[in-house]
Amino acid sequence: MITIDGSFGEGGGQILRTSLALSLITGQPFRIEKIRAGRKNPGLLRQHLTAVKAATEIGQAEVKGDAIGSQQLTFVPGKIKSGDYQFAVGTAGSATLVLQTVLPALMLGDGETTTLTLEGGTHNPFAPPFDFLQQTFLPIINRMGAGLTATIERHGFYPAGGGKFVVSINPSAQLQPLELLERGEIKTVKARALVAHLPFDIAERELSLIGRKLDLPGEALHGETINTSPGPGNAVFILAESQHVVEIFTAFGERGVSAEAVANTVIKEARAYLNTEVVVGEHLADQLMIPFALARGGAFTTLPLSKHSTTNIEVIQKFLDVRFEVTSLSNRAVRVSVK
Ligand code: ATP
Repeated sequence: MITIDGSFGEGGGQILRTSLALSLITGQPFRIEKIRAGRKNPGLLRQHLTAVKAATEIGQAEVKGDAIGSQQLTFVPGKIKSGDYQFAVGTAGSATLVLQTVLPALMLGDGETTTLTLEGGTHNPFAPPFDFLQQTFLPIINRMGAGLTATIERHGFYPAGGGKFVVSINPSAQLQPLELLERGEIKTVKARALVAHLPFDIAERELSLIGRKLDLPGEALHGETINTSPGPGNAVFILAESQHVVEIFTAFGERGVSAEAVANTVIKEARAYLNTEVVVGEHLADQLMIPFALARGGAFTTLPLSKHSTTNIEVIQKFLDVRFEVTSLSNRAVRVSVK
């Protein structure tokens, strides 16, 4: 049984999600203690508990400690079962992070196609927004050999949640290693702003500032009113397309924060990427680590690694016999290779 200290490194929910994902794939049981000890509200929240429940059902696992607030968990996986599943977080907790937990096991192997219907938050701060999942993450995994599609039915913003999306997973026997080293030219930069149950001029103000500061033409700016969301919300994205990837940077509107401040947040993040020559942005980097480790090879260039990424590498190395090599290329770029 592998023992994981949930308080090490970043001390957040990623340690649990990565452990569940790799336990399912390798069949190795694990026990985790001090779950999310590095967070203000430690232990399992609804989002993490839903991820545990999804992993338990899909992996026909035995589990102990699966309760709200629990800071320890024992997980003994069985055989992965493909099929049709539906999991609901029940709050605005991120449903895309539930997917992050079970996707690796479902996308590998010789099982049937799986259809996952996930409900909860689809557009949450500190989690991959659905658009990032669909346009940034899944196309790369598909290039590695998997057959994944995602469709959104309802947007779920914090705090009301209630979003819904469906992911179809056609597994591949083995993921192929990928090299994402040269970015090449940025072909297009676009911005999109969504508003649900809020005045449209929020989107217009965000887009106008982004257009001005990034020098984008009117046709690169797109505002949208979302009618399917149960609650109010505002998200603004900057999309940068290069040869290998469409990177998406996101900021969310909040009560008491001006549309211009929201736009400035996402502009800053996009510029940090655009001003370098790396292929992979900060968030995509930590999300590529499991697939690259499973492919047993590949490399990418990215920004200096976040603590989130370095913690993720350590957890992956506990479950899989792989080694991540991180080489500094400059003070704004590193190369991550899997050996
Ligand atoms: P908690 O302990 O509160 O659950 P956590 O460790 O589970 O936190 P985070 O550390 O906030 O969660 O990261 C969750 C995941 O969401 C990471 O994989 C991160 O890359 C991803 N993520 C966060 N923000 C974005 C974003 N704007 N775009 C894409 N992915 C994002």
